[in-house]
Amino acid sequence: MLSALSAVKTAAVRGCGPVSMVAARLKHTLPDLPYDYGALEPFISADIMKLHHSKHHATYVNNLNIAEEKLAEAQAKDDASAIVALGPAIRFNAGGHINHTIFWQNMAPNGGGEPSGDLMDAIKRDFGTFENMKKKLSATTVGVQGSGWGWLGYNKDASRLEITTCPNQDPLHATTGLIPLFGIDVWEHAYYLQYKNVRPDYVNAIWNVANWVDITQRFEHAKGK
Ligand code: FE
Repeated sequence: MLSALSAVKTAAVRGCGPVSMVAARLKHTLPDLPYDYGALEPFISADIMKLHHSKHHATYVNNLNIAEEKLAEAQAKDDASAIVALGPAIRFNAGGHINHTIFWQNMAPNGGGEPSGDLMDAIKRDFGTFENMKKKLSATTVGVQGSGWGWLGYNKDASRLEITTCPNQDPLHATTGLIPLFGIDVWEHAYYLQYKNVRPDYVNAIWNVANWVDITQRFEHAKGK
């Protein structure tokens, strides 16, 4: 029995055993953008979108898969120390994958304007007016120190909308409990090619491509969970 278990673990470590096969089936993949790289111009340039999606997001996906393979190997070896050591890489790269997957959907070529229905009612209830929410989310997001994200999220326990930020690639739900509705990426890779160091201009421009159809769907789903 012991030798059989050992054989399984050894095979897994060599990359041909059951654990690796499971990991291979669960590999993360880069999702296609729902629009062309140039579709968000003039607000976000095609150069930014191509680099951001095909290089930055792709790197998070690749590094997450690598970290998960190492995790499977560490688990197969019962190496608790190695499992702990992989935590930061998994948090960072899984967060990057989760955040960007939401971000692409949060924007649309024919976006902008204002939401309606239940989401607008909730915005007015929790922020007074749409403009107040917009100003607060913009200011909070511009104020992120270093790299991170600004978020409009839903607090399920309190049944209300909230605005907050996350550092680095920390994913909103896993680190705060808020359900993500609308995220604004303020890593420099998201705007520097077009806006240089003027982060406020980029954040103001984002509102012109905000996909309220997607954001509203996320809100309705969050309420119904
Ligand atoms: Fe990004």
